[in-house]
Amino acid sequence: MPVYVFQCRDCHKEFTLVLRMKELEEGHIRCPHCQSSNVEQMVAAFSAVTSKKS
Ligand SMILES: [Zn+2]
Repeated sequence: MPVYVFQCRDCHKEFTLVLRMKELEEGHIRCPHCQSSNVEQMVAAFSAVTSKKS
């Protein structure tokens, strides 16, 4: 599952969300701290990257 990192422009806190692409495109992203929709997407990380060593 893709994990997206956002930063809120209002309270300047970072938060991560697991979103489907459709949810991301529709832009229904809200800051969990202040409920603002004025958020900026940071880097995209992927939880598929594991620490498993072979
Ligand atoms: Zn906020």
